[in-house]
Amino acid sequence: MLIKREFYINGQWVAPAKARDCQVINPSNEEPCAIISLGDQADTDAAVAAAKAALPGWSATPPAERARLVAKILDQYEARVQEFAEVIALEMGAPIDFALSDQAPCLPWHTKNFLKAFEKVEWVRPLGPQAPESAVAMEPIGVVGLITPWNWPVNQVALKAIPAMLAGCTCVLKPSEEAPLDAMMFAEFCHDAGIPPGVFNLVNGDGAGVGSQLSTHPDVQMISFTGSTRAGKAISKAAAETLKRVVLELGGKGANLVFADADDKAVERSVRRMMENTGQSCNAPSRMLVERSVYDQTVAKAVEVAETIKVGPAMEHGSHIGPVVNKRQWDQIQGYIQKGIDEGARLVTGGPGLPEGFNRGFYVKPTIFADVKPGMTIEREEIFGPVLSIIPFETEAEAVTIANDTPYGLTNYVQSGDPARSNRLARQLQAGMIEMNGKSRGAGSFFGGVKQSGRAREGGIWGIEEFLEPKGIAGWSFTAAE
Ligand code: NAD
Repeated sequence: MLIKREFYINGQWVAPAKARDCQVINPSNEEPCAIISLGDQADTDAAVAAAKAALPGWSATPPAERARLVAKILDQYEARVQEFAEVIALEMGAPIDFALSDQAPCLPWHTKNFLKAFEKVEWVRPLGPQAPESAVAMEPIGVVGLITPWNWPVNQVALKAIPAMLAGCTCVLKPSEEAPLDAMMFAEFCHDAGIPPGVFNLVNGDGAGVGSQLSTHPDVQMISFTGSTRAGKAISKAAAETLKRVVLELGGKGANLVFADADDKAVERSVRRMMENTGQSCNAPSRMLVERSVYDQTVAKAVEVAETIKVGPAMEHGSHIGPVVNKRQWDQIQGYIQKGIDEGARLVTGGPGLPEGFNRGFYVKPTIFADVKPGMTIEREEIFGPVLSIIPFETEAEAVTIANDTPYGLTNYVQSGDPARSNRLARQLQAGMIEMNGKSRGAGSFFGGVKQSGRAREGGIWGIEEFLEPKGIAGWSFTAAE
């Protein structure tokens, strides 16, 4: 059992102001694997005060020096990547090989992309030839609160803490209480990389405690949040009193439009993408819309693929999927599967209950419903588990209507051999991101949605600029030294 009661504040690991233990449960066997503390107002205040005190020095540090220090985090990662992947597997159930190949590498991937984009930041920009003495200076917004979920835990920490520090902000991270261990290792990486005290702070806690304390804190200028749409709304309301900037990455209900002219790997690729990370991805292609002429064969193929996907514990090597993160998620997913059955969708594989051979651990059968109708609960709501809904369509226009008829708008997908149609759909689908024919987002691109998926743009130059505030200056001399 790992004992991790301390918080990282002002460059030191410190005891919580009040003892409030919280167990981290290993979802593969339902046993506690670590003890952390849930922070109190005094811990949040101490972390925010440290970040506030460090802000003048860090924001005045030349950008190249900030980049040099942030890049050193990568050396720490390289030295400890195996251990890093193991804590991710332990805390949230990603199988170890997947944690090593996909989860942990999110940190170097984003950091390298941010460092590249950072070289392009223009700190003082001319307004234009019509106003030669006007400038726009890009300045760090200040102390930022970063609140992250458990499903891609390092990914979210990297997408927030790295650009915040590069931009010259100082920050307080509150990782998910379900999966805090990787974030605590990230704090160690920052420490060992020589990030100055107070620039990066970490306080563990829950949403009602440290989460809302950061959201309402008068000395926090911005909250960058990834998590559920429910919590995103609560944070927006809590932050309204201090009018801080709120940047939200929320849930999704991705539509994946499969046409008769799709390539022969499209269905397999789509099902695997849905089931990856045990369906716990906000950008999962959870609604497969299939052209009627290939509907029956597509359903059959999807079932065949899903039935090859094995389920197993996180610490076992292999390409299986792990458990879902906790009992609450497991119960919720079971509820959705039952609802799908009750509302008349056709269960074609998987279904309720634990997979065969398991009597503990939060395992879910890879499940597919066919003949799902627009408006059914499983078509409307984010399930966040390995459950795919297949919906037939007759025409392209009907597919677009079904795809867009959702409160969410994160990633939509198109599988078609007709490039003109793909381009047309890329523009018509309401989402922050479109992925066509198995192409994934390129290096330097952003991640973010529209509508109730939140409107953040994390990653690349956009992800750095979220932490900057433009200052309009009249009477600026572009020839004088700063
Ligand atoms: P969650 O909203 O319950 O928790 C996320 C984080 O917010 C945790 O750190 C939690 O402690 C904190 N939190 C909860 N309530 C809060 C409140 N009222 N005030 C402040 N903080 C609060 O979500 P989760 O269950 O950890 O993660 C799953 C959700 O995250 C899914 O809905 C998923 O779609 C979404 N998600 C979105 C993205 C994206 O980029 N769009 C990425 C990953 C996950």
